[in-house]
Amino acid sequence: MKIVSTSATADTGTTSIEAVRHWHRELPGDHRIGLVPTMGALHEGHLSLIRRARAECDQVALTIFVNPAQFGPGEDLESYPRTVEQDLEAAREVGVDLVWIGDRQELYPDGFSTHIELPQLAQRLCGASRPHFFAGVCLIVLKLFHIFAPDRAYFGDKDYQQRVIIECMVRDLDLDLEVVACPLIREPDGLALSSRNVHLDPAAREQALTLSSALFAAEQQWRSGLDSAQKIRDRALMELSGEVELDYFEVVDRNDLSALEVIDPKLGAVACLAATVGGVRLIDNIQLEPR
Ligand code: AMP
Repeated sequence: MKIVSTSATADTGTTSIEAVRHWHRELPGDHRIGLVPTMGALHEGHLSLIRRARAECDQVALTIFVNPAQFGPGEDLESYPRTVEQDLEAAREVGVDLVWIGDRQELYPDGFSTHIELPQLAQRLCGASRPHFFAGVCLIVLKLFHIFAPDRAYFGDKDYQQRVIIECMVRDLDLDLEVVACPLIREPDGLALSSRNVHLDPAAREQALTLSSALFAAEQQWRSGLDSAQKIRDRALMELSGEVELDYFEVVDRNDLSALEVIDPKLGAVACLAATVGGVRLIDNIQLEPR
């Protein structure tokens, strides 16, 4: 497994971005490249994306970079979990070909000033309380797409809104790659896997479990024939622990993420939530499949 980082390339006088481009140029032209962008602190959710890429591509590139552009003032940029040594071990085990560890200064050198303006989609759900979040995500993802020129890029539906926005960017900017959506992976008890879960103490973890319980209740209501988004939401919210600080719980259109009043059974919907539990911001969602 090739590891590319600024510290590894410093002796050679090249930047890590040049090293990736060199790696790319040396590959046979027919090699299909799969890219898995992450912020590290890898868990089974990330590994499921890598395994899928491994199964579908000739070369799998994993990126690890805690992207400052997607954190707002007062958010957890500095305390975000960083476990590079374990990540490298896990990447080796699942058969990654190249791991690239991003460097802030190299990606956002002094004078960096270009920004991306996103569609309405990015103001909804998480965008309402984190107005710069998706612009920061798309900025780094677009940079990675240019650096790696992948054939396929793998994203998890844990971050459903993010995946939909990235698909929109790829369409709108005619980017020549396929976005592959991968299912959300949960702990056996239902908690959605997230790098931030390590910050939950046992009491907060118990409270966090009520997030997935709420979503499971929503899905149950939907399956049993209810199609009023409001009623599904009301029933779901009954599951939430009183300690959970809810940011939003919305039943939305699967494509444009607009809030729904009534769900069309032929189209289904997605129920999305964000909440702070024990000081940790968590997101989760569940598909209400067409029925
Ligand atoms: P992150 O490191 O949190 O930025 O996530 C990197 C990628 O892994 C994103 O595409 C996420 O959607 C995906 N991911 C994170 N957690 C999960 C999960 N529990 N299930 C599936 N994919 C996930």
